[in-house]
Amino acid sequence: MSTNSSDRETTTAPDTDPRFGVPLRGIDVDPETRCAHWDDPVDVVALRFGCCETYYPCDACHDAATDHEAVPWPRERFDEPAVLCGGCGTTLTARAYLDCDSEAQGASGSRTQSGDDTCPACGAAFNPGCRKHRDRYFEVAGSDDGDGDDGL
Ligand SMILES: [Zn+2]
Ligand SMILES: [Zn+2]
Ligand SMILES: [Zn+2]
Repeated sequence: MSTNSSDRETTTAPDTDPRFGVPLRGIDVDPETRCAHWDDPVDVVALRFGCCETYYPCDACHDAATDHEAVPWPRERFDEPAVLCGGCGTTLTARAYLDCDSEAQGASGSRTQSGDDTCPACGAAFNPGCRKHRDRYFEVAGSDDGDGDDGL
């Protein structure tokens, strides 16, 4: 079984994929962190989860590689690395990743389109569709005044 033509690896808990510089698991993960579920050219991001502090290409990989429920990365740790660029291996903080689509950093202003997610280190395009389900990966601000004393 050494003649598999793909360079994809499936890694499940408690192991981690030795090809990456961070703890990472997933299903059919390629060297740029595409996976069995997300396999487009732009799917080169792995997200870290708060429950096990391990990176996965997507939440479906998390659920397949572990036996516990996924917990998004907590807000109080947004200044810690929580996103891996599969293109160059750089880790970004959650804040840096989430900011890069809402506000360009004030560097040289030759951005072709605003609203694109790109890696600040290598310029790889990130899947803009990830924004739609970012609450699976990052704890979002909710309504936190939930002490309902409208009692009788
Ligand atoms: Zn987990
Ligand atoms: Zn996946
Ligand atoms: Zn990169």
